[in-house]
Amino acid sequence: MKPTHIEHIGIAVKSLDESIPYYENILGLTCYSVEEVKEQHVKTAFFMVGKTKIELLESTDPEGPIGRFIEKKGEGIHHLAYAVENLESVLAETEAKGIKLIDKVPRQGAEGLSIAFLHPKSTFGVLTELCEDKNL
Ligand code: ZN
Repeated sequence: MKPTHIEHIGIAVKSLDESIPYYENILGLTCYSVEEVKEQHVKTAFFMVGKTKIELLESTDPEGPIGRFIEKKGEGIHHLAYAVENLESVLAETEAKGIKLIDKVPRQGAEGLSIAFLHPKSTFGVLTELCEDKNL
């Protein structure tokens, strides 16, 4: 694989309402979208920094992945997402190299991207997401 850039950084927060003002008023970024991803039990808020987005993740269910993450580790960086092309073949190639995949086939993420996660046990502790924007 050859990622073109960091697509986004996913950050777990307890509350979008409480954290968005920090990103807007202190960092001077603009929240351009708030979206609920029901299957993931999260509400997301997006900011653009150059080509990279900041994705804030608020849990809508304590048993969901972000709810459990915050319970265990508190608020903070949750995952790193790389932009790639040909996600399906990238996944096959990555698995063939011995990396554990969470998603063997791409699924739909926020903003209509195709996404898949690699297992943090294979990535030195960083939950890694690969994204492909098929609208490009
Ligand atoms: Zn993400």
